Amino acid sequence: MSKILILPGDGIGKEVINECLKIIDYFQAKVPIEITEDLFGGASIDENGMPLTKDVLDKALEADAVLLGAVGGPQWENLEHDLKPERGLLTLRKELEAFANLRPAKVFPALINASTLKQEIVEGTDIFVVRELTGGIYFGEPRYNKKVEGKRVGANNLIYNEDEIERVARVAFEIARKRSKKLTSLDKANVLEVMQLWRDVVTEVHQKDFKDIELEHLYIDNAAMQVIKRPSTFDVILAGNLFGDIISDEVAELTGSLGMLPSASIGKDKAIYEPVHGSAPDIAGQNIANPIAAILSLAMLYKYSLNLDNISETIEKAVSKTLDDGIRTKDIGNKNTVTCTEMGDKILKNLAKIDSKEA
Ligand code: NAD
Repeated sequence: MSKILILPGDGIGKEVINECLKIIDYFQAKVPIEITEDLFGGASIDENGMPLTKDVLDKALEADAVLLGAVGGPQWENLEHDLKPERGLLTLRKELEAFANLRPAKVFPALINASTLKQEIVEGTDIFVVRELTGGIYFGEPRYNKKVEGKRVGANNLIYNEDEIERVARVAFEIARKRSKKLTSLDKANVLEVMQLWRDVVTEVHQKDFKDIELEHLYIDNAAMQVIKRPSTFDVILAGNLFGDIISDEVAELTGSLGMLPSASIGKDKAIYEPVHGSAPDIAGQNIANPIAAILSLAMLYKYSLNLDNISETIEKAVSKTLDDGIRTKDIGNKNTVTCTEMGDKILKNLAKIDSKEA
């Protein structure tokens, strides 16, 4: 039986994960999953003095996948760097060797007006960003912010070896192959040696095993412009940790709401699924968060970790149908909005209908 570790985390993390649990529960009769739930992030700091305990990390290593809500909040912001909730997240990703971050950003027809771009520009946008997650400048050593000869100096290191680039490139090419067979790789090869290596390795992987995929290389600064100029022409975008972090947020904005965006961080045989958004302390506890990002993350879990593409598609269809029905949480609607719980219930109702028709 597959094992899933649920880490609701902090703030709205707990609220949106509750809605996911209803869906997992629904499918338990069809595909039983062993579920364990535990503390993570600020909730774990309060109870155990650290954001990720060894016990929870062991449970994550034993599980087939982790479903995470969100971590963080103002009450933990002034803690030492290593004790902050976000540090727990970085450690979890690193320990699970979750080296590829998948961030789909799709503009749902029912929400086309939520985008800040003109309808005709954003229409049909369906971008899938694959970001390298365990290397690059966020992890490179040495790293410091200290006094050197009387002056404050800060430094981080952008380092990649060819294996790190190749494994994430392969994930991106495989995903492109299942979509419209187009991949855009982002770098800064004109200025950074490490990025020339990035471009060389991506090209070699393409030539060796993925000649059927159309490959385009773009400099990150140009890409930042092109994705808002012609978003619907992009399909899979591949980038390193830093550029991927930035471009995935930019692409996310095209869809109109943070509350709609799922993500997966996958390793060789482990994966973490989580909504892109944070713990939203400004709305936490009010039952008004949009649970769709978390629910779509769960759909990714069924697809990428459990290989249950049909369940994944049923969840996605249920979300689309609910949006088509005009159901909106506050972040995506103006009037007659529903609560987080109500959105979850409406999606579950549509899901049951779609599932029984397909059975
Ligand atoms: P945030 O994503 O929590 O919120 C940004 C804005 O979007 C807020 O106005 C919030 O109300 C809104 N929003 C976010 N998700 C929403 C949803 N599902 N439905 C409706 N509205 C939603 O980002 P932030 O405010 O910069 O960060 C808050 C805390 O979360 C910080 O401690 C930060 O470090 C942490 N954080 C955690 C993660 C993570 O766990 N992966 C990611 C980002 C931020």
